[in-house]
Amino acid sequence: MKIGFIGLGNMGAPMAANLVAAGHQVTGFDLSAPAPDGVSMAASAAEAATGAEVVITMLPNGAILKAVAGEILPEMAPGAVLLDCSTVDVASAREVASQAEAAGLGALDAPVSGGVGGAAAGTLTFMVGGGEAAFATAKPLFDVMGQKAVHCGPAGNGQAAKICNNMILGVTMIATCEAFALADKLGLDRQAMFDVVSTSSGQSWSMTTYCPAPGVGPKSPADNGYTPGFAADLMLKDLRLSQAAAEDADADTPMGQLAAALYARFVEEEDGKGRDFSAMLPRFEGRGRSS
Ligand code: NAD
Repeated sequence: MKIGFIGLGNMGAPMAANLVAAGHQVTGFDLSAPAPDGVSMAASAAEAATGAEVVITMLPNGAILKAVAGEILPEMAPGAVLLDCSTVDVASAREVASQAEAAGLGALDAPVSGGVGGAAAGTLTFMVGGGEAAFATAKPLFDVMGQKAVHCGPAGNGQAAKICNNMILGVTMIATCEAFALADKLGLDRQAMFDVVSTSSGQSWSMTTYCPAPGVGPKSPADNGYTPGFAADLMLKDLRLSQAAAEDADADTPMGQLAAALYARFVEEEDGKGRDFSAMLPRFEGRGRSS
């Protein structure tokens, strides 16, 4: 397939490289990142999009996505598909999709989970919003870049699924970390805590797959000095998107709101920037009831 790829950063570069390795013809554009192997670079986003059957975007946020969409939609061939894999706010995703559809184009929002490791290995999970025909066009590309693509409904629903999932993740990670810190103070051994909770009703992915306590459970960023993994900064981004969506939809999300506030403090006022999001455990360890 002839593919335009805009945004060749930490995630976009390995995704584009996998498409090239699978035999697709990829023309890329980025404001600063270098060309991944096999990707020919265009001089602008509009040039990268011209003549492409699918244009993939992997950009930092909704404002940038809207600006890039403004440049590329007029250049895209009728029937081509805009496949946005960035994590952005639901409102921006829906706005861009309706502009694309008005221009006779297909549009999908398809944020990913799996991180840089999943992007390099081609094992991402895509959560996809948009029409059936566009999903069918993009399916072979999801198969190259990932291991699973779930069609979640119309435009914006991929972003909705992503931020709801990550809101649960942020909340359960905090709950798991504060429970470990309480267990420490009650004299409970961390291995015993893991053995009980991982097979009891308090279990979650945060405990069983990504345990925040070093030396306990499967290998995780805690065993590597809390080097990300999934950075606390990115968790904060996703929690803020969940709260922006909750505002728009008038949904009551007290735990998500509190998780967003805690990660904001951790990243912006404490030592959380650049650390894995499970480094909430050493944060709680050092604190008392009044701190
Ligand atoms: P990144 O900052 O490494 O890459 C973004 C790229 O976009 C940069 O190379 C930047 O130069 C480029 N860019 C910015 N504005 C542009 C423009 N107007 N035109 C062309 N290029 C432009 O970020 P990343 O880690 O690759 O993340 C990309 C998206 O994927 C984000 O929305 C992020 O939330 C999401 N995501 C990241 C991860 C992760 O682990 N890194 C995991 C899941 C989802």
